[in-house]
Amino acid sequence: MIENGKLLNYIGGKWQRATGDSYLDVENPATTEIMVQVPLSTAADVDQAAQAAAQAFGDWRQTPAGERIQYLFKMKQVLEDHFEEIAQLITQECGKTIGESRGELVRAIENVEVACGIPKLMQGDFSEDIASGIDEIMIRQPVGVAAAVVPFNFPGMIAFWFLPYAIACGNTYIIKPSEKVPQTLHYIMTLFAEHLDLPPGVLNLVHGDKVVVDALLAHPTVRAISFVGSTPVARYIYAQGAKYGKRVQAQGGAKNPIIILPDADMEMTTRIAADSAFGCAGQRCLAASLAITVGDARHTFTEAMADTAVSRTVGYGLDESVQMGTVINQQSVTRIEGLIQKGADEGATVLVDGRNAQISGYEKGSFVRPTILQNVAPGSEIARTEIFGPVLSLMHATTIDEAIAFVNSGQYGNMACLFTNSGHDARKFRYEAQAGNIGINVGVAAPMAFFPFSGWKESFFGTLHGQSNHAVEFFTQTKVVVERWPKEWSRTF
Ligand code: NAD
Repeated sequence: MIENGKLLNYIGGKWQRATGDSYLDVENPATTEIMVQVPLSTAADVDQAAQAAAQAFGDWRQTPAGERIQYLFKMKQVLEDHFEEIAQLITQECGKTIGESRGELVRAIENVEVACGIPKLMQGDFSEDIASGIDEIMIRQPVGVAAAVVPFNFPGMIAFWFLPYAIACGNTYIIKPSEKVPQTLHYIMTLFAEHLDLPPGVLNLVHGDKVVVDALLAHPTVRAISFVGSTPVARYIYAQGAKYGKRVQAQGGAKNPIIILPDADMEMTTRIAADSAFGCAGQRCLAASLAITVGDARHTFTEAMADTAVSRTVGYGLDESVQMGTVINQQSVTRIEGLIQKGADEGATVLVDGRNAQISGYEKGSFVRPTILQNVAPGSEIARTEIFGPVLSLMHATTIDEAIAFVNSGQYGNMACLFTNSGHDARKFRYEAQAGNIGINVGVAAPMAFFPFSGWKESFFGTLHGQSNHAVEFFTQTKVVVERWPKEWSRTF
C-alpha cells in the first residue's frame, strides 16, 4: 500500500505508516524519476512487527506443514500471475535489463517450489531399540520469529532464499528490503496480502536502514537473522547477532576470478565471460571481476573481450534490445569510476574505458559502460577490491598452479570459474579452488534452489547457507527424545 507517494509497512496483517517522519526518495536510476518515498522506520516499528510475529507464531507452528505449504502453492501462482509487472518494477527501480529481471524472478519462484517439499524436508529421524526397549527420536521444530535483511542488487530474488523456507517450517517472518529498491518486495507483499490469506503476523515487512537492522538484532523476540549484503556489514551483523545470542547467516561481498586456459573454446568462453562480467552491470555477487589468462590464452581472450565490451548495447533496461542497464545510483558511478582511475594510477592499462557514459535520452542516468583493465598487478588494490560494476581486470599467469594460487590468495571466496577442455585440469581446479561456488565452463555458477547457496572466507559468516536443506536446518531446531516404555507398564484390559 502506498499513501501520498509514501510506502507503508506491513505489520500484523495491516498496512501502517512508519512511526518516524524520515523518508528517502526512491529514484529510477535510468530516468532519474522519483518513483516513491521509503520510510526510515524506527525501533518502535520493529517492536510492533516482532510482537505481531510472536503472536502469530503459536497458531502457525501448530498448523500442519502440509497445510502451511498450501499458502506456498498460492504464492507461486501469484508470482506467476504478476510476473511481468514485478519484472518491470525490478528494472525500473534497480536498472537491470528486463531479461535479467525476469531471470531473477524465475529463481525466486524456484525457491518457493523447493520449499513446498518441507513436509518431507523437515522430517526427523527415528532409531528403534538404541538399548533394549528404548527408542530415540529427533524432531525438527521452528525457531520462532525470524528476519531477513537484503541488498539492492536482486530486489525480487534474494528474500526468497529464506522466506518460503522460514514460513513453511512454521516460523513467522519479518523482511527488511533494501532502502535503495524497496518497491519490489513492497509490491510482492501487496499481492500476498491480497491473495494468500495468510494468518495476520506470519509475514511482516518493515522498511528502513541501519536503525531497523539494529533493532532487529537487539530485539529479544527475533531468534534468527538472514543477511545478504557487503562484507563489512555482514561481519557486523554476525558479531552483533552473536552478542545477542541469535542464529545468523550473513553472506558478504565478492571478487570473483575466472581462469582461462589456452585449450578453452575461445568463442564460447568470451561470450560467457562477458555475460558474467557485464550482466546486471557487474552488480552480481557472482559476477566475474578478474580474468586470469594462462599461457597463449592471453592474446586471443584479450582481443575478443575488448570487442565484446565495446559492442555491448547499454541503455534503459525496459528496452528489450538493451544488453546492459544502469548501476544503482550516481554515488555508485562515482565510486566505480574512481576505482577505474585507481587501477590506471596503479599501472594498469584502461583497454576499454566505460567512464563518462552518455546514453541518448537518459543523459542523467547512472550508466557506466563495460570497462576492461589490462596488466593488473596481483598485489594492487584494483585486483583485490570489490568493484560491483561492469569492470573486468585482466591478469596473466604462466601455469594453472600460479593462477589457482592467485585465486586462493584473495580475501573473498564466493565464486571461481575455469574455462578449459581438459577434464584433468577441471578436476584439479574443482579440488583446489577456495570458493563456495565453482564454475567449469560456466560464468555465473549460481546454484539451483535445491542446492545451498553461499561463499567461503570473507564472503560468508556463519555455517548454514541459504536455499534448500541448509535453509531448512537454519529455520528449525532439533529436539532429541529418548523414550523408554517398560513392558510391565503396558495396560491390561
Ligand atoms: P549493503 O551491505 O550496503 O546493504 C545490505 C543491507 O544491509 C541493506 O538492507 C541495508 O539497509 C543494510 N545495511 C547497510 N548498511 C548497514 C549497517 N551499517 N548496519 C546495518 N545494516 C546495514 O549492500 P548493498 O550495497 O545493498 O548490496 C551490495 C553488496 O551485497 C555487494 O557487496 C554484493 O557482493 C553483496 N551481495 C552478496 C551476495 C551473496 O550471496 N554473497 C548476494 C548479493 C549481493
